[in-house]
Amino acid sequence: MSLLHSFLENKKTAVILGHTNPDGDCVGSCLAVYNYLKDCFPQVDVTVYLEQPADKFRYLNGFEQIRTEMPADFQADGCICLDSGDRDRLGAFSGFLEGGGEVLCVDHHITNTRYGDKNVVEPEASSTCEVLFGLMDEEKISKETAACLYTGIVHDTGVFQYTNTSAKTMEIAGKMMAKGIDFSTIVSESFYQKSYVQNQVLGRALLESILFCDGQCIFSAIRKRDMEFYGVTSRDMEGIVEQLRSTAGVECAIFLYEKEFQEYKVSMRSKKKVDVSKVASYFGGGGHVRAAGCTMNGRMHDVVNNLSIHIAKQLEEQA
Ligand code: 5GP
Ligand code: MN
Repeated sequence: MSLLHSFLENKKTAVILGHTNPDGDCVGSCLAVYNYLKDCFPQVDVTVYLEQPADKFRYLNGFEQIRTEMPADFQADGCICLDSGDRDRLGAFSGFLEGGGEVLCVDHHITNTRYGDKNVVEPEASSTCEVLFGLMDEEKISKETAACLYTGIVHDTGVFQYTNTSAKTMEIAGKMMAKGIDFSTIVSESFYQKSYVQNQVLGRALLESILFCDGQCIFSAIRKRDMEFYGVTSRDMEGIVEQLRSTAGVECAIFLYEKEFQEYKVSMRSKKKVDVSKVASYFGGGGHVRAAGCTMNGRMHDVVNNLSIHIAKQLEEQA
């Protein structure tokens, strides 16, 4: 019996949590477990708590049932934490770790701190959705659950582009396609499609980007006042750092946006040489070898300088 199944035995209530600023793998994994539990464990009263995810994920079954506010009474027999490497990543919902009963953590971040009572952490897996597939009975995965799992895999692999994609990833994706999901629409509308303002902000970030370290690094940032000007939020920043990374000759891309005055959300992506999870961990964040993030305070110039010292050091060691 998989750990997911044994965990749910004898549980009456369960909550499902993900990370702040939820991405495709986070929303996909939370709703995959939600749908799977509804089908296979109808006796368990299950609720998903997440910060409001982007509207583009509305096609996922259960999206409308997501609760976005921390309840006053947060008792539950079990708490399933997905795609979140440490307690802080759960944001306002980390309170459930105290009142949420037994904690099961399913994740694929190399920096995961194993904060659950039970932990399934597979850093080799492309996505939390890939890890979840291994915990589910394949024949019990519905078309709705399959759409969630496929979404997570597609988003965390950049549509099967990044090196976290393995033959196993493709096999699982194929099995999800065989469930009859609308994979073409999932890819085009949840991954590639952008709103007009999202494209404007992307364009602005590319226009103002700066190459350094002999063209091996690229940096760009969007300030709070510019976000206000375009009327965008953190949810509209997805994909910008990936576009910077795709610049020819670039090994490492840094993208910042200002959350509060002199408080920056940092996203880093690398190709082959730089371990960005090490850099992000040093500054209190985490992630994967080729994709990581953190939050840093101070003047933008200092934030970039501090990051670039660590990246340049790694590039020198590789040279
Ligand atoms: P992104 O740049 O898209 O926000 O995140 C890239 C990867 O790093 C994701 O897997 C994400 O979960 C992780 N990550 C981003 N920010 C943080 C952070 O502040 N702390 C930790 N532990 N992980 C982060
Ligand atoms: Mn993930």
